[in-house]
Amino acid sequence: MAGRGGLDNGGVRHVIRQIVRPVSTVSAPVTASGSVHVVKCPSCRADDTRVVDSRIAEESTAIRRRRECLTCAFRFTTFERIDTVPLTVVKSHGGREPFDRDKLIAGLLAATKGRSVERDELEQLATSVEDTLRLAGSEVSSANIGLAVLRHLRDVDEVAYLRFASVYKNFDAAADFHRELELMEKDTAPT
Ligand SMILES: [Zn+2]
Repeated sequence: MAGRGGLDNGGVRHVIRQIVRPVSTVSAPVTASGSVHVVKCPSCRADDTRVVDSRIAEESTAIRRRRECLTCAFRFTTFERIDTVPLTVVKSHGGREPFDRDKLIAGLLAATKGRSVERDELEQLATSVEDTLRLAGSEVSSANIGLAVLRHLRDVDEVAYLRFASVYKNFDAAADFHRELELMEKDTAPT
């Protein structure tokens, strides 16, 4: 950071993006559990900064904080972003409901009943599926959840995969789902 000492920092706006996980609410951020994220001064790298102003930004999904370095008085802005925004499931007949991990696990347990698949493996699978869905956006169709599950399940247990696929064939009328599933089954046809 040599050469920056003489900078007039007053009007310089620095933005640091932080991903904070998991935080349950916007109004009760990082300090409660002691998992405080140290924010280094972008100018002199000192650890001690003071929050001079906080406000909710971007429709409550982020907290904007104005900070000041206690060492060099450099002022900068941070955004703490919550990466557990709600995931909404859009059902094939148009209804909406929050994504329910327990429901997903229940479906996986039914599909793997009597198979030698450990509960841990299902939990991991559910987490992988949920991560995949969250990366794709805040809304997901139930058909796409089914497909995401199948993509992961096919590597875990062939029988469970076929069971799960048949459940979705019966209960989900989405044309996209059937088309995708056919493609996937061609892909994975036993040799
Ligand atoms: Zn500093």
